[in-house]
Amino acid sequence: MSKKKKSKISVLAVLLIMAGVAALVAAGAFGAWHYQSYSVGIQLAGEQDMVVEVGSGFTDPGASAWVEGNLFDKAQKPLEVATQGGVNTHKLGTYELKYSAVFAKEHFLGNKQAFAEAVRTVTVVDTQAPLITLHTQEGAFTFPGQSYVEEGFAAQDNYDGDITQLVQRQEIDGKVYYTVADSSGNTAQAVRDIFYDDPIAPELSLLGEDIMQVKLGDSFVEPGYTASDNVDGDITARVTVEGSVDTAAVGRYTLTYTATDNFGNAVSCSRIVKVVEKIMPPLPKGKGGVIYLTFDDGPGPYTERLLDILDKYGVKATFFVVGRYDLTLTKEMVERGHAVGNHSYSHVYDKLYASEKAFFNELYAAQDRIEAACGVRTRLVRFPGGSSNGMSQVSMRQLTRSLVNSGYAYFDWNVDSKDAGGATTPEEVVYNVCSGVADKTMAIVLQHDIKEYSVDAVEEIIIWALENGYTFEKLTISSPGCHHATRN
Ligand SMILES: [Zn+2]
Repeated sequence: MSKKKKSKISVLAVLLIMAGVAALVAAGAFGAWHYQSYSVGIQLAGEQDMVVEVGSGFTDPGASAWVEGNLFDKAQKPLEVATQGGVNTHKLGTYELKYSAVFAKEHFLGNKQAFAEAVRTVTVVDTQAPLITLHTQEGAFTFPGQSYVEEGFAAQDNYDGDITQLVQRQEIDGKVYYTVADSSGNTAQAVRDIFYDDPIAPELSLLGEDIMQVKLGDSFVEPGYTASDNVDGDITARVTVEGSVDTAAVGRYTLTYTATDNFGNAVSCSRIVKVVEKIMPPLPKGKGGVIYLTFDDGPGPYTERLLDILDKYGVKATFFVVGRYDLTLTKEMVERGHAVGNHSYSHVYDKLYASEKAFFNELYAAQDRIEAACGVRTRLVRFPGGSSNGMSQVSMRQLTRSLVNSGYAYFDWNVDSKDAGGATTPEEVVYNVCSGVADKTMAIVLQHDIKEYSVDAVEEIIIWALENGYTFEKLTISSPGCHHATRN
């Protein structure tokens, strides 16, 4: 072989070697680049910082990861994401969720690993306010001006539970304000309107007597009164007095005292002031029973007024009328429910008690006239002067027996008003009747309706009797009799 040929081969070899080296260098460079270019991308879904209400559900939106940076095979390949940490939605706090992804590959330059991670914070918060519940108790109330007595309340929080102990209360101008805050600073308020009531009326008392007597012409001096209230205290100055007393006119005057508290509760009481011609001792207490009011010797000029007084109280009475008088009013008596009795025709003792025959003649004559006037043939009799009279020329023992045997009933009295002698003022008549009735359970009262002061006494007698538990009845043929002892 020539030297020249040998050198051509050598040049080629050198070129080949050089090319080889260059290829190796290039491959190495690529390999190194390739090795370096693997990395992992990671991306959170949803917000990085999340806020969750305590007690509500939480769903982790997660994250996604991928490989990046490879030209050939692995570009954008999704990677599995691992999550670390958790969220307790029942407990307040800030929780971290850590997401990570790893990519691993074998490589001729060594095993390659790429890694990425992302962090999310989840804060569990309580934004819900507590709830205050106010309790009420049946019938509870507050006296005006007094402080409220708590009926009870409760505060409940969604997170802290029972926080009743934390409630602050304040009473201002008829309202109670309740406030409370939970551990997260959420507040709640409640307001109670205080129910004011004052069911208790004031107490009012009169100084002096409830029933006073003032002598005609004297001046009346108010004895005074006191009033106090459970809330307002002494309210004596606010007592009003209605009515007046005319001491220039005999009569019964009523003064009405009224005390009213600030709440409008009122109490009233009254005092009776009697303007009288004669001041009498206080009337005794009666023990209750039946009273038969009887009026003799009418009808007279005051009888009609008497009928009105009786009607005012629904009281029934008995009128023993004189047969020879104008008997027109007996019709009125019967129509108003009273009893009419026979008190002889003449009421002249010498004539009617001259003989038994004379007595019965008067009895029948009166009976006829009464019947003609009012339609009632009465068999009720009262002897003029009573069965105990000492003027009769006939034996009263005999006369009473004959009368009863003839089908009549006669009535004397066990209470004498003394209006036919002794008493000359209404006050004396009232006193005589009431003190006479007081110790009896059955009283037949003698009055005369031809005496004005006796008629004037009737209303007081009725009022006293009703206050002392008595009832009034009229006489009938079967009423319990009251017979005096006869004198002859
Ligand atoms: Zn008489």
